[in-house]
This record gives sequence, structure tokens and C-alpha cells, in this order.
Amino acid sequence: MLILSSPSGAGKTTIARRLLELDPDIAMSVSATTRPMRPGEVDGKDYHFVDRPTFDAMVEANEFYEWAEVFGNCYGTPKAHIRAKLKQGQDTLFDIDWQGTQQLYQKAEADVVRVFILPPSIEELRRRLTGRGTDSEDVISARMARAQAEISHWDGYDYVVVNHDVDDCYTQIAQILAAERLKRARQTGLIGFVRELTRA
Ligand code: 5GP
Repeated sequence: MLILSSPSGAGKTTIARRLLELDPDIAMSVSATTRPMRPGEVDGKDYHFVDRPTFDAMVEANEFYEWAEVFGNCYGTPKAHIRAKLKQGQDTLFDIDWQGTQQLYQKAEADVVRVFILPPSIEELRRRLTGRGTDSEDVISARMARAQAEISHWDGYDYVVVNHDVDDCYTQIAQILAAERLKRARQTGLIGFVRELTRA
């Protein structure tokens, strides 16, 4: 379970897309959310868009691995397909916030790798959050405050990558994934293989 967290504007979506495109062995966990769909988003691909009563019923029925309220909207990781994927040995990419990260870590510590992406500077973050120049100063300040609140949780992660350059940042995260896959405990076929090698 590879978790990518970052404040919005740090480049996480680009990195996640690239990982999914280039690595056939990792698939995205599609969360459920109560927030309205943004232009260009696809229901079932970016999120499962649900209304609040539906989300509450899913919480009640214990259908989420983890869920959290983030800036007034609810987000949750549905259990169903994650379990199936883990069983098949399929790696899963999570774009979730620090609250969800803590919950997943508590539930499945050995299976979780936590990566936090930081923007290269406060000026660059502001530039990326300023949008097309149509937002008011208040809206931009609110976005900056949210981003800084998210950044304050950077120390709850195994790896921290500063996104100076999106290509370098992608390469570093792909390297983290490659190294984590090579951990002895994750190479489940190794015992039989080594036994074969050491047979007298
Ligand atoms: P956005 O609305 O911009 O897509 O996401 C807002 C925040 O919610 C991001 O920090 C994102 O990582 C987080 N998020 C998305 N899905 C989930 C989820 O299933 N669980 C949790 N805890 N956070 C999520």
C-alpha cells in the first residue's frame, strides 16, 4: 500500500498519474467522497461520488478501511476491492491525507509505505495555488492555510520528497517503490527459492 500525501499544489496528481501509467503492477485505490465533482473528473475513476446519507450509511456498515472529513467534505477508502487486490499481490496507490494515512498504518503497518511530497518553496506553492488569476485574495489565503496545515504532518511519513522538478520527483518515488518491493518480508516466494539454491 503506497500512500502519497501532499498539500494540493505540490504535484502529487501528476506523479500518481505517471506511476499508474508506467507501472502495470500498481493500481489506484478509488475513494468515495461527498465533495462535488470537478470539471474533467469521472465518477468511478477519480472518485465514487456519493451524497452524505450514502456516505454515512457506508460508515455505519463498516465499509471503509479508513475515512476522514477533509475541509468540510468526507472521503473514505472502500474496503472491498483493496482486500482482493492485496490478496492477489497487487500493489495499491493511495492519494489520501494524513488522517487516513495514520488509520491505514495502524491497521496494516507492515503493508504500508508512506510518502510525503513537499513543494519546493512557499512562493512556488502560492504560484501553483493562485490558479488562473481569477480567485480573490481570500480564496488564495484559505488555500495557502490548508496547504500549510497539511504540511505540518510531514513527520508522520517514512519518506519525504521535495518536488523541485517533477521528473526527478517521479524517479525518486519510483525508486522508493522498487526498494520497498525488494524488502525480504515482501518477497513471499523467496523461502522456496532459497531452499532450492541451498539444497545439497
Ligand atoms: P480533493 O478534494 O482535492 O480531491 O482531495 C482533498 C484531500 O482529501 C486530499 O488531501 C486527498 O489526499 C484527501 N483524500 C482523498 N481521498 C481520501 C480518502 O479516501 N481518505 C482520506 N483520509 N483522505 C482522502
